[in-house]
Amino acid sequence: MQQLQHQARKRFGQNFLQDSIVIHQILISIAAKPEHHLVEIGPGLGAITAHLLKACDRLDVVELDRDLVTILQQQFSGYEAKLAIHQGDALTFDFDALAKDNQPIRVVGNLPYNIATPLIFHLLAQTRAIADMHFMMQREVVQRLGAVPGQKHYGQLSIMVQYYCQVEILFAVPPEAFKPKPKVNSTMVRLIPHQKPPWHAMDFSCFTMVVKTAFTQRRKTLGNNLKPLLDAMTLKHLGIDPELRPECLCVAKYVQISNHLSMY
Ligand code: SAM
Repeated sequence: MQQLQHQARKRFGQNFLQDSIVIHQILISIAAKPEHHLVEIGPGLGAITAHLLKACDRLDVVELDRDLVTILQQQFSGYEAKLAIHQGDALTFDFDALAKDNQPIRVVGNLPYNIATPLIFHLLAQTRAIADMHFMMQREVVQRLGAVPGQKHYGQLSIMVQYYCQVEILFAVPPEAFKPKPKVNSTMVRLIPHQKPPWHAMDFSCFTMVVKTAFTQRRKTLGNNLKPLLDAMTLKHLGIDPELRPECLCVAKYVQISNHLSMY
């Protein structure tokens, strides 16, 4: 019914969930409780929102499309005490500011595929305020988030996200679950910011630069790619084989290289 009122906009990555079994699976994986403070990115026509609202006492939603915001305001009028609808761009939204009284927020969303990666980076910078994140994203992006050293999807995105979070790949979702049907497959993923970070990069911008430089050319060795930053001998002194490919090195070793460079 509601979908008749709104023409899906491709530029906003609008693929609305229409499969009640998938919606149920998402809700089970989120397992919202009344005391949780949830934040949904891109509520769209409210497919998940309506259920979250029943489950928790505090829900904020961030939606870019003004027409959808109007629909949501009508759909959920009367719920103002526990629902706040924010019209805005999640890519610049201050999620930190929503976390009140030391209670971290739980972020969820069937994300617009075109902004999923930059959005994750925006959220990673605010993980102190975030208890966990549950996202539906393009399968290939989730594969990269969860990949471990040696796997073909392991790369910059895996390392940067795993530096901050534990990644759990949850379940696959076919295009038929959405209207309109996207051209890609989707996967649900859970990201849990580390309570006690296993690694500490002394200079985070240096860490970012090391990871980026290491993957300049995937087919080249670490020694070759990292030449602009340090020589093969130094890598050997750090216990790292310069002949390795960049996708073979774990997060801890990238942090180690970065911290070595930060000291000089
Ligand atoms: N949650 C709904 C569902 O599952 O049916 C809609 C999901 S749809 C894939 C993505 C939603 O994100 C759309 O409602 C779209 O308008 C919204 N959106 C797109 N870009 C956004 C942005 N930068 N900030 C906030 N919302 C955005």
